[in-house]
Amino acid sequence: MTSFPRFLPRFAAGLAACAILAGCGGISQQQEVQMGAQEAQQVNAQLPILNDATVNAYVNSLGRSIASRTSRADLNWQFAVVNTDVINAFALPGGYIYVNRGVLSRASNESELAGVLGHEIEHVVRRHSVKQMEQAQGANVGVGIACALTGVCNNQVAAAAIQVGGTAVFAKFSRADEVQADEGGFFNVMNAGINPRGMLTFFQKLLAEEQQSGGSGPASAWFADHPGTQDRIADIQRLLQENASKLNGLRTDTPAFQSMKRRLSQLPLTR
Ligand SMILES: [Zn+2]
Repeated sequence: MTSFPRFLPRFAAGLAACAILAGCGGISQQQEVQMGAQEAQQVNAQLPILNDATVNAYVNSLGRSIASRTSRADLNWQFAVVNTDVINAFALPGGYIYVNRGVLSRASNESELAGVLGHEIEHVVRRHSVKQMEQAQGANVGVGIACALTGVCNNQVAAAAIQVGGTAVFAKFSRADEVQADEGGFFNVMNAGINPRGMLTFFQKLLAEEQQSGGSGPASAWFADHPGTQDRIADIQRLLQENASKLNGLRTDTPAFQSMKRRLSQLPLTR
């Protein structure tokens, strides 16, 4: 709450820069990285980031092993965990990936977490949010809000602050973008030597949890931000069939994943 007054002008400046950039045409990689770094700073200040060396080292190591085999291996990929049980994940331009603790605690093996990271990585690889900014007429882009992504904004002031910043930062992706991120994510995971079947089992798990809770459980933010889950499950099933012969020998789990889980279970939850 105390950070609100200085938070607002910084975001306003960021929005103006985006409007100018959009007017200028393309956004360079350098500009993308700068924006991402700036937004990551804001996110880190506003959201409850989990500060645990063991969990962070594991998530960064897994995330980088996947990202380093994509066409944007040159980015300085950073992975962070938001300490909330709400199930979601999001990507900022330039390679800043956030995954909520709820995803870590629901994932039963490395391949399930890898599927979520592979998906978010693909949004950055495809420059989905950058493209939205480039296409935007000024700053009034249709967008998601950090609160919706993380479910942590119970307090009105934080919600308002993040809503202001939401515009260019937390792009609400189209269904086509989501399908692209799933398909690219599938191969990102495979290329890292991990079985992409975890994408399917994790989606199915979320769907079951959502149906049980009647649409108001920890998975509901995920479904609000990721429309068409049923279709996406069918798409991943198709990919698994098409690539069945290549999946032998890919790993599903590691001891490192399970020790991260044990560590996580000892850490206090923000909300
Ligand atoms: Zn997505």
